[in-house]
Amino acid sequence: MAQGQMAPGIVSGRLSSDELTSNFTDLHPPLAPHEAAVAADRCYFCYDAPCVTACPTDIDIPLFIRQIQAGQPQAAGQTILEQNILGGMCARVCPTETLCEEACVRETAEGKPVEIGRLQRYATDDVMASGAHPFERATSTGKTVAVVGAGPAGLACAHRLAMLGHDVVIHEGKPKPGGLNEYGIAAYKSTNDFAQAEVDWLLKIGGIAIETDSVLGETISLEGLQQNYDAVFLSIGLAGVNALRADGVDKDGVRPAVDFISDVRQASDLADLPVGRNVVVIGGGMTAVDAAVKSKLLGAEHVTIAYRRGRDAMGASRYEQDLAASHGVRILCNVQPVAIHGNGAAAEIELEYTASHDGRLTGTGETVRVPADQVFKAIGQALDGAPEGLTLDGNKIAVTGAGRTSMTGVWAGGDCAAGGEDLTVTAVAEGRDAAMDIHAALSA
Ligand SMILES: Cc1cc2nc3c(=O)[nH]c(=O)nc-3n(C[C@H](O)[C@H](O)[C@H](O)COP(=O)(O)OP(=O)(O)OC[C@H]3O[C@@H](n4cnc5c(N)ncnc54)[C@H](O)[C@@H]3O)c2cc1C
Ligand code: SF4
Repeated sequence: MAQGQMAPGIVSGRLSSDELTSNFTDLHPPLAPHEAAVAADRCYFCYDAPCVTACPTDIDIPLFIRQIQAGQPQAAGQTILEQNILGGMCARVCPTETLCEEACVRETAEGKPVEIGRLQRYATDDVMASGAHPFERATSTGKTVAVVGAGPAGLACAHRLAMLGHDVVIHEGKPKPGGLNEYGIAAYKSTNDFAQAEVDWLLKIGGIAIETDSVLGETISLEGLQQNYDAVFLSIGLAGVNALRADGVDKDGVRPAVDFISDVRQASDLADLPVGRNVVVIGGGMTAVDAAVKSKLLGAEHVTIAYRRGRDAMGASRYEQDLAASHGVRILCNVQPVAIHGNGAAAEIELEYTASHDGRLTGTGETVRVPADQVFKAIGQALDGAPEGLTLDGNKIAVTGAGRTSMTGVWAGGDCAAGGEDLTVTAVAEGRDAAMDIHAALSA
C-alpha cells in the first residue's frame, strides 16, 4: 500500500486502485432502453403538470417523457435542451427529490415518483452520444458580450446569446471551464469527465470564445469590459469560504471542504489523495455531505458530519442525508465546534451541544470530544471579488428582473446574484433568462 504521508493520520493509498474505481462509479447508472421505456410508461402526462412548475428551467417534462415513450430520445433531448442547455449535468446533479420528483403526482399518491432525472439523462445522453448539436446560430448581430465565469450560469448565458447571433467571450479565472460542474460537483455524480465533454458539446454552437486564466479584478477590470463589449454578464459564483470561528482552526489538517472536493475532482489517481482516518465535516449542506461521503469512499474509517441545528434544518435534503448514512457517515446534530485540539496538527475536535430558544441558537456548555485528524469546513461559500460600485443585496450582487444589476449594461446571475437557490439548475435558468434580457436590450 502506497502511504504518502502528509500530516499524522492523513495519508494516501488507504484503498487499492480497484477499490477506489469501484467506489467512485456512477451514483445513478444510466437507464437501458427497456428500463427507460418502463419508467416512461409510469408517467400520467398530467395537464398543468406540477413537475414542470417545480423545475426552475420549466422543462416540458410530460412532453419529453412522451417522446421517450414513442421511441424518440433525440426529440426528447431537444425538448430538454431548448430550456436547459446543461440538461445533461442537471440530470445527474439536480436534487430531483426536492424539485420535479417531489412534485410528481405519483410521489404524492404512491411515494414513488416517475424517475424524471434518470429519464432526462437517458434523452440528453442520447443527443450527446450522437455528436449532433441541435441548435443553430441566428444571423450575426455584430454585438459582442463579455461573460465573466464559465460555470453553469455563464455557459447557459453564453450559449443562448450565441444562438441569438451575438459573439461571446467568456473570461474564466481557472485553467478549465465548467465552474463547480468541473471543480465542485461530487465525483460519483459526474463521472468520465462529463463536465468537459458537456462544455465541448455546448461550444459547438459557435460564436463563443473562452479565455481561461482571465481573472476579473486582476487581469481584467469591469471598466475595461464595459468599454470593449456591448454588455457584460457576471457569473462569478461564490469563490470565498466563510470563516470558522473556533480555537485551533489554523492547525494542520483543517481546510475548506470545497478545496478537498476540488482535489478529488482533479486527481489523476485517487490512490494518491491523502485522507484522514478520523474525519469530521462541519456543516449541514450538500458540500458537507459530498466531503463526508468522498472521505469514506477514499477509505477514511470514521467520518462524522457535525451540524449545529437539527436534521430538519440541514441544507442537504433527506435523500442526501440518507446517502451519507448509507455510506457509514455519522450525522451529529445540535453541536457546534469550540476548539480543535492537537499538537500542531488536528487530533480531536471539541463540540458543544446547542439548544434553540425562540429561534436563537445557544451553546449549552456541555461538550463532547471526537477524534479528528482531518477537519473540513463546509459552512458556506461567500462572494469574493465583486467589482466595486455594484449594489449588493446582503452579501450577493443585487439584481432586478432577469439579472439587471445597478450598473447599466451589466447583468449578473447564478450563485453570485441575490435570489434563487444555489443550485446548478437555478444558475442555468438565470443565465438563460439574463441572455434573453441582454438580447432584448441590445436589439432595442
Ligand atoms: C461542493 C459543492 C457541491 C455541489 N453539489 C451540487 C449538486 O449536487 N447539485 C446542485 O444542483 N448544485 C450543487 N452545488 C451548487 C452548484 O454547484 C452551484 O449552485 C452552481 O455551480 C452555480 O453556478 P454559477 O455559474 O453561478 O457558479 P460557479 O459554478 O461557481 O462558476 C463560477 C465561475 O466563475 C469563475 N470565477 C470566479 N471569480 C472569477 C473572477 N474574478 N474572474 C474570472 N472568473 C471567475 C470561477 O472560476 C467559476 O468557473 C454544489 C456546490 C458545491 C460547492
Ligand atoms: S407530475 Fe409525474 S406523472 Fe405527472 S407529468 Fe410530471 S412526471 Fe408525469
